[in-house]
Amino acid sequence: MRTYLIPLVPGPTTVPAEIRAAYQEDYGSADLEPEYYELYAETQEMLRTILGTRNSVVMMTGEAMVALWGALKSTLRPGDRVVAVATGVFGYGIADMARSLGAAVEVVGFDYDEAADPQRVEEAIRRVRPKLVTMVHCETPSGTLNPVAEVGGLVAHYEVPLFYVDAVSSAAGVPLRVDEWHIDLCLVGTQKCLSALPDLGIVTVSERAWEIVREVGYVGYDALAPFRTALEDRWFPYTPSWHAMAALNVACRRVLQEGLENVFRRHAEVAAYCRERLKAMGIELFPRREEWCSPTVTAAKVPQSLSWPELDRRLRERGMVVGGSLGPLAGKVFRIGHMGAQADMALVRRGMDILEEALRG
Ligand code: PLP
Repeated sequence: MRTYLIPLVPGPTTVPAEIRAAYQEDYGSADLEPEYYELYAETQEMLRTILGTRNSVVMMTGEAMVALWGALKSTLRPGDRVVAVATGVFGYGIADMARSLGAAVEVVGFDYDEAADPQRVEEAIRRVRPKLVTMVHCETPSGTLNPVAEVGGLVAHYEVPLFYVDAVSSAAGVPLRVDEWHIDLCLVGTQKCLSALPDLGIVTVSERAWEIVREVGYVGYDALAPFRTALEDRWFPYTPSWHAMAALNVACRRVLQEGLENVFRRHAEVAAYCRERLKAMGIELFPRREEWCSPTVTAAKVPQSLSWPELDRRLRERGMVVGGSLGPLAGKVFRIGHMGAQADMALVRRGMDILEEALRG
């Protein structure tokens, strides 16, 4: 199916026409034109407001993974101690990434249907004294939201040098306060709550993180270092994508025009509605406690009467596409992505009506 009539995949999300239109223009060379630098600076400023930070905001061509890798490679050296808080596919994955760079990684692991317990994280921080704590705000494959604010408090209390948070599927959908929560490296994508294309990786970088980036001295295509002075120097490490930046600029403007509080309320209301409808159909939510459910994506157990391929087939037949899941949850869990433009009550209501019909066969 090329275009989904009822798009409810938890990313890439449907891209509104206004954002798509930003790709239509024939831009000049981003390396040469002052307008590109103005666009970058303006987009950076809007992202600062959305993410609650005064830190630098680096925007790299690629998608979220380029920022996830670039931030780790730019701040870790072999032997560095890392505490990786893991409650799902991405949390455990980030631990593996850090390990592949030679870091000594202590995983504070939880089941995939749980959110992290800050007490266990505190115990690990006290014992390991890490250079870096990693955490995922919304574990998209499990539909859970982790207590980043609480862990940020611990990071500050124990003076951990760096706090790395994957906010790919929470940023611009749920409250996220980078500075207040002591986040040094906040990783964001464009294709989830911002509803743009998957073409930029975003990372906020604190002053402390910049110092460590300088000490580590990592050089590579995904290195953060050149972005520190890219705007002042009018020099990017490679040709930036003007189209992608123009689209992200429109996406941020839409969020701010609606108002952050309104955006967060819209996500919370749609998610609550989605959970109620699923429960009314006798479908069990995947997170063990409802308070752990993310407002951006709802994960639920595939009903026993159906296989996931059959459920997927019945939904697709009716023009609706949802997400399956990944890793150990593949085939057992399906997900409704109500993030960004898809956090739309009419769309989710229609989706739930179709799901009800599909379950009846
Ligand atoms: N982190 C989380 C929590 C995600 O859900 C995803 C994508 O689904 C990523 C990172 C990677 O994002 P991308 O595939 O855009 O690089």
